[in-house]
Amino acid sequence: MYSRRKIVLLLALGGAAALLVSIATVLIKITTHVERFSAETSAMAYLEILSDTQHFYSRDIVGPASHNGVNVSRDFSNHDNAIPFPATFMHGLTESLSQQYDTKNFRFFSRYPFFERPMSGPQDLFEEDALSFFEENPDQDMFSRLDDIDGEPVMRNAMALRMAESCVGCHNSHEESPKKDWMLGDLRGVQAVSEEISFFSAWSVAHGATWLFILCGILVLLVAAVVIAVVLLAWRHIDLSDAHAHIETLAWQDTICDLANRRALVSMIEAELKETTPKPFAIFMMDLVNFKTINDVHGHSGGDDVLRIVGKRLQELPYQDTTVARIGGDEFALLKRGTRDSEEIEKLAKSIVEIIEQPITLNGRRVHTGTSVGIALAPKHGRTARDLLDNADMAMYHAKATAGCQWSYFSANLRESALRAERLSEEIREGIARGQFVVYYQPQFSLTDGRIFGLEALVRWQHPREGLLLPGAFLSIAEERGLIVALSEVVIRQSIQDILRWRGGGLAVPRIAINIHQDQINDRNHLRWVERCYKDSAVDSGHLTFEITEGCILGRGNHHVPDLLQQWRDRGYGVSLDDFGTGFASLSHLKNLPVSEFKIDRSFIEDLLDDPPDRAIVDGLVKLSAELGTTLIAEGVETLEQAVMLRMMGAPYAQGYLFARPLPPARTDRLIEEKGVAVMHDRQAKAA
Ligand code: C2E
Ligand code: CA
Ligand code: CA
Repeated sequence: MYSRRKIVLLLALGGAAALLVSIATVLIKITTHVERFSAETSAMAYLEILSDTQHFYSRDIVGPASHNGVNVSRDFSNHDNAIPFPATFMHGLTESLSQQYDTKNFRFFSRYPFFERPMSGPQDLFEEDALSFFEENPDQDMFSRLDDIDGEPVMRNAMALRMAESCVGCHNSHEESPKKDWMLGDLRGVQAVSEEISFFSAWSVAHGATWLFILCGILVLLVAAVVIAVVLLAWRHIDLSDAHAHIETLAWQDTICDLANRRALVSMIEAELKETTPKPFAIFMMDLVNFKTINDVHGHSGGDDVLRIVGKRLQELPYQDTTVARIGGDEFALLKRGTRDSEEIEKLAKSIVEIIEQPITLNGRRVHTGTSVGIALAPKHGRTARDLLDNADMAMYHAKATAGCQWSYFSANLRESALRAERLSEEIREGIARGQFVVYYQPQFSLTDGRIFGLEALVRWQHPREGLLLPGAFLSIAEERGLIVALSEVVIRQSIQDILRWRGGGLAVPRIAINIHQDQINDRNHLRWVERCYKDSAVDSGHLTFEITEGCILGRGNHHVPDLLQQWRDRGYGVSLDDFGTGFASLSHLKNLPVSEFKIDRSFIEDLLDDPPDRAIVDGLVKLSAELGTTLIAEGVETLEQAVMLRMMGAPYAQGYLFARPLPPARTDRLIEEKGVAVMHDRQAKAA
């Protein structure tokens, strides 16, 4: 992902390096240029030194020497006791200097060439021009020009050597002088220095330095701007394409578990279906038990960890040709290619259940989850990816809803009932919105004085077409479709209204028993909402009992429930263990549970008269609850005989059709007025 940025960086570095090289080159060029100027100046210096040398030689060597009888001659080398003319001396000096420098050429020339010095006349156009210039301009002593010699630029400087006062006499009198009418200021000769210079310097010299600097500056700026623009554009391009790639990944991958997501799974299934000779394959669908609670208790990061661990375990299953996908919140799917062998499929389903059930450790705490697996086989259960996934989903719901069922195949019946359930769940949603759900109250009586002890709130649906429906007709679908909490909120709101109405009408308010479902227990926000509702409407917690079943306490992932019950008890609410005896709570477990009440399940009461073991159990429970100081209510009392028997056993309270069916609120009002409310129960007395 970052390699392209590396490439851009390398390119930019390369560009920057090239830029540096070019700047360096320019600097070198400028240096050359500067050198050139200094060379020019040094040329002047050379010329001045040469001219000083000549003066020195004429005045201090030649002058005194001739006074002393030394012969000054152009042919000095052939004479003893002779020294050269200054011009000859200078000519010799410049020739010797020129030999010492590779790039400099010193010249000494004149219109009157020196004795036996073939090169002492003007040798080229420059020298001609210099001579002419000095002849025509007696007040000028310097002449410079950029010249071209054999295609190479050469900087040439010349200086006029004119007759000084000290020279004229000697030149006009000496027999070897080329002429005798020398005047002051006459041009005797020229000394010159030429130096090769580079094209660049030559050019800059020719055009003036300012342009060069401006041009260099513009060039550098242009190159820098281009490099920066290229880098920025490349960067932006990479950003965009990275973002694009990231979106692509997000679109195909589940970012939490690094598994395929639903879209990817669908395209894999489609690819399988499109094969020219499609092979059979199976889709396993599963979600996690209690995932919401795990999220609530361990936070979302804990939840994510659980998802990752489950994803990893699924991937590590030892089956060939499988793909694991996370296709929704806590929903996983597994695609097993090339199988229709039911034994293998079922073995895989069992393995899935087993590995998901294995405890997970989160921050040192053990977390339990579980799953039910729905299986759809291709092509038998669907010819499109969508159908196959929907059908596996349906099978999963069926497995979940069927007690003791860990996995289930899809079947056509499931579709039928799923469609029915779908319609029904839609109707339930609508019913909740339209206020079709109401609360009925079934009174609980004291067997000692026949007065009302409590009222159990039971939900009813006033269905627009089917009339009054009991929970059996809709509760399981509401549960399956996650509508329990919404439904419970209706019940709690209405029970509060009724309590306030009874209170406002001066009626004694019996304690109200509210059925609390597992889904409510798992929803902390909902629980907080419930308490706030009661608090806001100033309903005394002592007037409320929450009924829960053993399943809520013993179920997987319900370790937090005893604490919750204790909190309720601490705040004054009653806690009743509903359908008691049908679950598997051990007696020792019960002893430690913070419940204030047991409700003996209807099944024990039904056979109370005919079934001695049931009678013994009920008898035992009566004694046990007396012992533990908890309330005991016998549910489903339908006959007088049952009531009499219970009373004989010492059971304090009973609820059942014998006394009253669940009643609408208006009729409950009348019943309260008629029967009166029993003396406050121990718990309430204690709480008061
Ligand atoms: P449950 O909590 O065990 O409620 C008692 C059920 O037994 C009620 O059925 C009641 O009408 C029925 N019943 C009472 N006396 C007799 C009797 O003498 N003979 C027989 N055969 N039945 C009797 P209902 O109202 O149909 O409710 C069924 C279940 O639905 C309840 O069982 C409870 O688990 C659930 N339920 C009802 N209302 C709510 C609610 O508001 N919230 C929740 N979470 N569950 C509710
Ligand atoms: Ca109940
Ligand atoms: Ca019950």
